[in-house]
Formats: sequence, structure tokens, C-alpha cells
Amino acid sequence: MRVKIVIVGGGIVGLTTAYNLVKLGENDVVVLEQKYIAYGSSTRNAGHFRVHFWAPENTRFAIEARKRLLDFVSKIRWNAEIDLGGYLWLLYKEEHVKAYERSNREIWSKFDVSGKILTPEEISELFPYINLEGVIAGFYGPQDGKMNPNAIVFGYYEKAREMGVKFLPYTRVEKIIVDNNKVRGVQTNKGVIESEKVLVAAGGWSTKLLKSIGVDLPIEVERKEIGVTEPINYFIKPFIISLKSGVYVGQMVRGEVLGSIDYPVVKGLTPFNTTLDWIHKWSENAVEVVPQIKHLMFLRTWSGYYVVTPDHSHILGRDPEWPENLYVATGFSGHGFMMAPFAGEVMAKNLLYDEIDELMKPYLPTRFKEEKLIHETMVIG
Ligand SMILES: Cc1cc2nc3c(=O)[nH]c(=O)nc-3n(C[C@H](O)[C@H](O)[C@H](O)COP(=O)(O)OP(=O)(O)OC[C@H]3O[C@@H](n4cnc5c(N)ncnc54)[C@H](O)[C@@H]3O)c2cc1C
Repeated sequence: MRVKIVIVGGGIVGLTTAYNLVKLGENDVVVLEQKYIAYGSSTRNAGHFRVHFWAPENTRFAIEARKRLLDFVSKIRWNAEIDLGGYLWLLYKEEHVKAYERSNREIWSKFDVSGKILTPEEISELFPYINLEGVIAGFYGPQDGKMNPNAIVFGYYEKAREMGVKFLPYTRVEKIIVDNNKVRGVQTNKGVIESEKVLVAAGGWSTKLLKSIGVDLPIEVERKEIGVTEPINYFIKPFIISLKSGVYVGQMVRGEVLGSIDYPVVKGLTPFNTTLDWIHKWSENAVEVVPQIKHLMFLRTWSGYYVVTPDHSHILGRDPEWPENLYVATGFSGHGFMMAPFAGEVMAKNLLYDEIDELMKPYLPTRFKEEKLIHETMVIG
């Protein structure tokens, strides 16, 4: 088989890139997926999106991604369950209140996405079910919200396939073939596929594949657990993040209460297990934030990977010192689903025309050796 572009990874990043390539008229594209479509984090996440990040680069990127996400969901045949319930950060320390006030004034208002600092009384009026013990303020971002990631993943998959992209599930890339410092294709468990260009969008597995051709990316993989309870009447409007414990709690449209907490810390490509430790830790801290959920039973728990870079921001494009025609799109550090609608668009232009969009520039892999890190610490979970 010979194609113009091989995409390694059938997660949301591979899918949005394939969709945008074919929208630009390029359908000589194959997406290779080691298991089934969206086996990785893209169907294992919390399904939330926001525009509020500490780094202006990430805020601008997320604003563009949000626009494309909201536009795309009108094109698919499934209900993407978009709900702009907002994000509510519960703040317990003066220094955190100051930091949110500063970002609201200096970053978010400049991009027209300012939120609101709320007093405990205002929080209590808007969201009376939240326990405000120790809370000195809240930051509410009404532009933020939730979605059904499955509908969106399979929406991109279906659209790209309809327009001519080929998908090969259960086709694992074992090696990227490089000859004369130029990418020639990939070796898979089902044979060789020759190609002009290769995009590695393989989530947590990207570094292993790249290492085999001498490309080292500063990425750590962390397994994160997450769960939903049985459904109850919908009452938790915003996605609540406590800066005391780091716990997050939200409610899906069907009524399940969903959430997670960064515990236990498990690094590496470990099996997708879940633990009783996590259930205890999350339950304890989630009940502290929303006491009413105390008697709910878990419906299911699962786990997935955060693919974490040193500055908690994604890596897009290529380093000129790499073998020619090798590209990457990974390292989304726990906020990749929401970024993918725009990441796929800029990556498609990068692959086709070697164009580097203004908003993509900060994310080039060269930033690590140039020490031009994006200072993002607003990582949830
Ligand atoms: C618990 C949890 C909660 C999260 N919550 C959110 C959230 O609310 N909002 C948000 O925006 N993000 C969230 N994320 C992050 C988000 O899920 C990821 O950033 C995003 O899904 C990354 O997409 P991806 O396509 O890069 O990776 P993946 O979805 O992991 O896709 C990579 C694909 O590549 C395939 N692959 C790997 N190696 C090979 C190979 N050698 N050959 C062929 N195929 C290969 C894998 O099987 C996989 O399907 C969360 C993540 C987790 C774990």
C-alpha cells in the first residue's frame, strides 16, 4: 500500500487531523489504529472544555478550538450533549483569588472571555448545593462546558471516512521507516505502508515509537482514574474544581455525577486499572464539595492517560533536525480533547503546505531546546 499521509493513532487528534486534511481536498490519507478507533484517552476522558488557562497561548488556542467544536457538533448525526454550565473554581487562599483576578483582567478579558469572581454569598445563591466551608471566593467561567466525547469522536471518524480517508483498525505501527534521513513509511503488524509523510498522533504511546528512530520528546505518561455514579436528577450545573483538594465534580446530562482527583499518582504506560484507593479518595473529597451526593453508588470507574509535557502544553509540528516529513501532535497534558478541533486544523495545514499557523508557533517541539516554554499550570485532575 502507498499513500501520501499516514496518521498513527485513531484518537481525537488523529481524527480531527484526518477530517481537516480531507476538507482541504487531500484524501490520500490512512489512519492506523493499534486497537479500535478511540481506544486511548479520547473515550476515557471527562468530556469538558474551557477557555480559561493561565497561559495566553493556551487561552487563545482553546478559544479557537471551542469555536470549531461548537460548529462541528451541528454537522453530526448524534447528540453531542453540549451544555454551557460553566466551570467553577473554589478558592481557599488569597493568593489564588489574586491570581484569578489578575488573569481575568490581564488575559481573559483581552480575549473577550472574562469570567466572574464570586463571593461565597454569590456562590451560595447560584449553586446552593456547594459546601462553602473554607471557601473565600470562586471563579466562574460561563463560556466553559461539557460534551459527549463519544459522539464527537465518532462524528469526526464518520465524516472523515465519508469523505475518503481510509481507516485501518487493529493495525499497529511497529516502526517508522527512515531512509537517508527521510521518512518513507511505516512498518505495521500487517505489513509495510509507504508514505510521503507520517504524523505521530499516538497519545501516550508516541514517545516509544519516536524513540525507535532517535527522536526524544520530553513527555511523561500518567494514568488517571475517573468514575461516574448512578444517575440522579440533574442539579449540579457547573463543573466544580476545588483548589483545596484538586477534586473535580460535575454532572452529565443523563444525571451521572462524574469526577476525579489526582490520586494515586501512577506513571508510565501501565494497564488501564482502577483502584479502591481512588474510589475512597474521590468520594471523600467530592462529598465534601457537594454533600448531597453522599449516598450515591458508583456506576462505573475507568482510567486513561494524561500525556504530560514539562510545560503542560501540547507539541505540534516538527523539528527541522528530525528526519524529513516526520510530524507529531501529542503531549496535551490532560486537556487534549477540547484542543483537538483546532489542533487538527493547524496540523492539516502544516502537513499539506508546511504552513505554521500563528497560534501553532508556540507549540513547536523546538521550544524545549530553545527554552521557550509555555507556562501553564492550570491542569485539572
Ligand atoms: C481521566 C481523563 C480525563 C480527561 N478529561 C478531559 C477533559 O475533560 N477535557 C479534555 O479536553 N481532555 C481531557 N482529557 C485528555 C484527553 O482525553 C486527551 O488529551 C485526548 O483524548 C488525547 O487525544 P489523542 O488523540 O492525542 O490520544 P488518544 O486518544 O490516546 O489516541 C491515541 C491513539 O493512538 C493509538 N496508537 C498508539 N500507538 C499506536 C501505534 N503504534 N500504532 C497504531 N496506533 C497507535 C492508540 O491506541 C490510541 O487510540 C482527559 C484524559 C483522561 C485520562
